[in-house]
Amino acid sequence: ASGYTLLRDPRHNKGLAFTEKERDAHYLRGLLPPAIVSQDLQERKMMHNIRQYAVPLHKYMALMDLQERNERLFYKLLIDNVEELLPVVYTPTVGEACQKYGSIFRRPQGLYISLKEKGKILEVLKNWPQKNVEVIVVTDGERILGLGDLGCQGMGIPVGKLSLYTALGGLRPSACLPVTIDVGTNNEQLLKDEFYTGLRQKRTRGQEYTELLDEFMSAVKKNYGEKVLVQFEDFGNHNAFELLSRYSSTHLVFNDDIQGTASVVLAGLISALKLVGGSLAEHTFLFLGAGEAGTGIAELIALEISKQTKAPVQETRKKIWLVDSKGLIVNSRLGSLQHFKKPWAHEHEPVKELLDAVKAIKPTVLIGSSGVGKTFTKEVVEAMADFNEKPLILALSNPTSQSECTAEEAYTWSKGRAIFASGSPFDPVNYEGKVFVPGQANNAYIFPGFGLGLIISGAIRVHDDMLLAASEALAAQVNEENYDKGLIYPPFTNIRKISARIAANVAAKVYELGLASHLPRPKDLVKYAESYMYSPIYKSFL
Ligand code: NAP
Ligand code: MN
Repeated sequence: ASGYTLLRDPRHNKGLAFTEKERDAHYLRGLLPPAIVSQDLQERKMMHNIRQYAVPLHKYMALMDLQERNERLFYKLLIDNVEELLPVVYTPTVGEACQKYGSIFRRPQGLYISLKEKGKILEVLKNWPQKNVEVIVVTDGERILGLGDLGCQGMGIPVGKLSLYTALGGLRPSACLPVTIDVGTNNEQLLKDEFYTGLRQKRTRGQEYTELLDEFMSAVKKNYGEKVLVQFEDFGNHNAFELLSRYSSTHLVFNDDIQGTASVVLAGLISALKLVGGSLAEHTFLFLGAGEAGTGIAELIALEISKQTKAPVQETRKKIWLVDSKGLIVNSRLGSLQHFKKPWAHEHEPVKELLDAVKAIKPTVLIGSSGVGKTFTKEVVEAMADFNEKPLILALSNPTSQSECTAEEAYTWSKGRAIFASGSPFDPVNYEGKVFVPGQANNAYIFPGFGLGLIISGAIRVHDDMLLAASEALAAQVNEENYDKGLIYPPFTNIRKISARIAANVAAKVYELGLASHLPRPKDLVKYAESYMYSPIYKSFL
């Protein structure tokens, strides 16, 4: 191939890092200025450039440009500066990027499958240049983060999630396929926006939607085989639960909003027990919000307690209560509840307000997952602190503006007694001379390692026990130093090591359950996971 083509191939381009010999061997003479620099220097230069941008969206665009120009350098930056760059390539900045995707769009970074492709999806998949795909992240754009329906512009999410699969979980970039399914959007503003990139029609629902998804799922299996992982991301909750149950017995599927969230939050709870005491079964849980996140977390907690106590899950659910937009979920509402809420209806008189529910249920753990900000009021937090020595409060709603309360409010209103973690990051808080560091229940702790565990074992189905294995592995990574600061999650700096541990624990479970196709089982699964990981260091072309 010509040197010119090499420089324009992001998978192989090294820019000024091509050596003299490589320049001779690959017809690069004259196409590059004389200087030869190291990858480290390139990295320092890029980080310097990115830090010059005051606007996060500009940082995002600079990073996407780099990914399109020099893939290994992009991943090296992301791996070495994960705490700084995670909020850029993922939430919150990726949300803004999706909102403006129409005007910042340069080159497609994933595969678009719209209603126009109905009947030809297998051919569309064959247009994608990579044949050895291991993970697909797919969205239909209906509920992007906390931002609602962004239609076809939701593509930023699968692209961002998959870059984390590579950076944090070590999957090869060429093994990752971002997909956006476009069935229209109900976002009036986008439908009117001249820069909108998607179909200009209202969302298709019902049979036509189901047929498109069915065709997509069978095409995926036909083209990539039984072991390709399909991660559903940011679907509206009516479709999310439906799709997960529809395909979980025929495909390797995982919904990060339901299952990934559940696993990361359960890990935080297991780890928090070191600070608050007791076993999970001894706690009482109250959720504000009974959607994908709330009911997903609730179910995994019930399952873990059931494993620990041998009590049936129908029993262990009874100490977990949920409040939705209509109030506490109780038996008298059973007739009108969506099916995913039904398991959570318990015997109790109706309660409308959260504060009254807190007073009635007296939870030890309060979890916010409604997407509505400022709902953990001073009264609510004070009530929690009234009957709990160390109230455990998780404000999971994103973005920051939607957080149920801030870290500072949680610590101040509980007089420094709350154990607090949130969905969006908060700075450390100094309360009466003691510094509290709030943890972030970021899904990025779990899904990259979880996916890696499925891939290295050749899993053919996802089982809830694998999610529990992931939670336990993550919780085990929190150390004394973290606990001293009030942290219930480990820092992100060692995330690749953490991901390898999670992957190993998940893979061990896959083998135990007889769902592994990669045989024989490697002896040391942690080592095996680490050795499987993609390295962003340049390869020699000689
Ligand atoms: P979802 O499926 O739409 O569920 C939202 C739930 O909140 C529904 O049950 C809804 O009630 C309820 N709700 C809405 N407004 C309410 C109000 N004013 N009072 C009480 N309940 C109310 O959304 P989701 O996917 O679960 O996400 C919820 C939030 O969690 C989002 O902000 C998301 O960013 C966050 N999240 C965080 C993490 C994390 O921290 N790692 C992970 C995932 C999600 P109805 O059912 O009655 O409509
Ligand atoms: Mn999501």
